[in-house]
Amino acid sequence: MYVLYCSECKKKLLTYDNTHIRKYKSPLKKCRKCHTEYIDPRCHELAAEGIPSDVFSIKQYIFLIIFGALILWRGFYLLNRVQIGVPNETQWFMPAVIIICGAICAVGGIIEIISIKTGLKAKKYDRLYIESEERLRDADYVNTLKNLGYEIKEQK
Ligand SMILES: [Zn+2]
Repeated sequence: MYVLYCSECKKKLLTYDNTHIRKYKSPLKKCRKCHTEYIDPRCHELAAEGIPSDVFSIKQYIFLIIFGALILWRGFYLLNRVQIGVPNETQWFMPAVIIICGAICAVGGIIEIISIKTGLKAKKYDRLYIESEERLRDADYVNTLKNLGYEIKEQK
């Protein structure tokens, strides 16, 4: 986990981990307390960084579905077993939580694959890209980003 503090007033701005969260919107934000501008490292300008290659990769979602299915299977297995040390009334609880988690993974993976196959995901990224391009047309905005340390490669 990383923590970002305001360069002026030292207010805690956000905590984040650098693993998965990628938001495609303007990274330029303002400290709520002193209004100093800062870069939100979770946010990315698509038109400056390009669309990540793994966004449309189906393989990762197939793994997600398999992973979800395995968890589901485990949940159903536990449902038919008596768990030691768990009262009778709450025997169902843990397997139910496991089944729900597995289902969310599997369904999430299926939805992603459908949205890739039908082109919905590409449309969504096209829209995000255009929005990003529009923001980056503003030279002042680009300069502000650069001054705050956000890297922007020269536009074609
Ligand atoms: Zn501040």
